[in-house]
Amino acid sequence: MFYATFRSMAEVDVQYPVTVVYCGICGYPPEYCEFGSADTYAKCKVWIVENAPEVLPGLKKEDVAQDAKLATQEKVQMLPGGKVKKTELPSVIISHVARTKRKWVTIVTGISGFGIDPNQACKIFRNKFACGASVSRDKKDEIVIQGDVKDEIFQVMMGAYKDKIKPADVFYLQEDGSKVCAAS
Ligand SMILES: [Zn+2]
Repeated sequence: MFYATFRSMAEVDVQYPVTVVYCGICGYPPEYCEFGSADTYAKCKVWIVENAPEVLPGLKKEDVAQDAKLATQEKVQMLPGGKVKKTELPSVIISHVARTKRKWVTIVTGISGFGIDPNQACKIFRNKFACGASVSRDKKDEIVIQGDVKDEIFQVMMGAYKDKIKPADVFYLQEDGSKVCAAS
């Protein structure tokens, strides 16, 4: 099966040092930094570039420095402007992230905004994809699926939750941070 192949290839291709390194910002191993908050991750990336560049090859120091600066700025701007409140409609965001060169995870966020229990959704995903799926430790509305199922998961969700989620409510997160409606 595809996912089985996927995983065993990743195991053969391990090039990381066996010693476990922990991020100096969030305290998790650097491969897990991305599952922290976006603001923290922006700062983690600065640490990663300097201390564990092999985790995110291709990251440039000046780019991550800019992200970290923006993450800090946003906070500062929001403190005095407490009245400015973003009213966002619920949406489901699908993204996928490379853990290593060949091992991908697919991340689904926002499903509880539609009255769906993420734990129950995990069970459905586990059965449909025959792979691991769990709710993030620190984010109760984030489901992490072990495998690149980005292309299949939209159909699975529409099958399982067609009464609750409309196709127009589901988005793919692009690499540049923009969102594309999954139904388009
Ligand atoms: Zn970190």
